Amino acid sequence: MSDNKSKRILVIGGVAAGTSAASKARRIDPDSDIKIIQEENVVSYGACGIPYVIEGLISNFEKLIERNEQIFKHKYDIDVITNTRAFKIDRSRKKVYTTNLQSLEETVFDYDSLIIATGARASIPNIKGANQRGIFLLRNYNDGMKINDSDIIEKAQSCIIAGAGLVGLEMVEAFKKRRRGLAGRNGSMDVTVVEMADHILPTLLDKTMAKIVQRELEANGVKTILGERVEEIVGKDRQVTGIKTDTKREIESDFIVLGTGVRPNSEIAKDAGIELGTLMVIVE
Ligand SMILES: Cc1cc2nc3c(=O)[nH]c(=O)nc-3n(C[C@H](O)[C@H](O)[C@H](O)COP(=O)(O)OP(=O)(O)OC[C@H]3O[C@@H](n4cnc5c(N)ncnc54)[C@H](O)[C@@H]3O)c2cc1C
Repeated sequence: MSDNKSKRILVIGGVAAGTSAASKARRIDPDSDIKIIQEENVVSYGACGIPYVIEGLISNFEKLIERNEQIFKHKYDIDVITNTRAFKIDRSRKKVYTTNLQSLEETVFDYDSLIIATGARASIPNIKGANQRGIFLLRNYNDGMKINDSDIIEKAQSCIIAGAGLVGLEMVEAFKKRRRGLAGRNGSMDVTVVEMADHILPTLLDKTMAKIVQRELEANGVKTILGERVEEIVGKDRQVTGIKTDTKREIESDFIVLGTGVRPNSEIAKDAGIELGTLMVIVE
C-alpha cells in the first residue's frame, strides 16, 4: 500500500462473519476503502430466521435482512458487490479474481488486507435418486425461498427430514406448525425425521437428554426413525414419492429435506496456499 491512498480491505463473503468483519474494520479504520464480495444476491441476513418464515411466524424473507447494500454504503461507506463469486486469490500480487454470476463479467480487485468469510455449504450425502423434484436443502436465503415458494410443498401432506441435527429439527418444527398449503388447511403435515445415529441431535446431546427431546417431538405428532440411514430417494416421473432406508424400510413422502450437515467453503483459501485448520465436518 502506498502512503497517499487509503488501505484497501477486501472481504469475501457477506453474511454473518463477513459483514461483522467489514463493520469492525470500518470502526477501527475510518479512512480505509472496504469492499465485500458476496456470491448471493442478498447480504447480511439471519439464516437462523429462515425456518420461522417457512413456519409462517415471520411474514417474509426480507425481514431477515439486517442491513442491505444501501445501508452499508450510506451508513458505513462499505461497498457490497452481490451476485459475484471470488474464484481465485493471488496472494503474491494481492489480487482477487471474481465473476459476476449474472453477466459473467470478470473483475479483478486489489487489496492490502483480505478477509475470507466464505462460510459453509450444505453437505449432500451420496444417496441414490437424489436428482428429483421434491428434494430440498436448507443452507442459505435462496434455499429458504425455494422451499417457501414450492408448489410441491404447497400441495404436500407429508414430508421426511433426513438428519436430526439442529437445522433438521428446526425444519421438523416448521413443517409441523406450518399453516399454509394443503396440509395446513387439513390440520398439520405428517412429518417424519430419519437419523442415522441412535439418537436425535447426536453432536449436541447425549442419549439420555436426546430421549427427552424425542419424547416431546413424538408428543407433538412427529415420527422419529433412529439408527437408519436414508439410502435411496424413490420417485415417480422424477418426483419424490418416498425413501428407502438401509434396513429396507420404505416410507412414503411428498418431499424430503436433507438436513445432513455442512462443509466449509474453504477451497478458495486452500487453492491460494493458505493453511487450513482441522476439517470438522459436522454431520447432522
Ligand atoms: C436454517 C438455519 C438455521 C440456523 N439457525 C441458527 C441459530 O439459531 N443460531 C445460530 O447461532 N446459528 C444458526 N445457524 C447458523 C448460522 O446461520 C451460520 O453459523 C452463519 O450463517 C455463518 O455465517 P458465515 O458468515 O460464517 O457463513 P455463511 O452464512 O455461510 O456465509 C458465507 C457467505 O459467503 C458466500 N461465499 C462463499 N464463497 C464465496 C466466494 N468464493 N465468493 C463470494 N462469496 C462467497 C456464500 O454464498 C455466503 O453467502 C442457522 C443456519 C441455518 C441454515
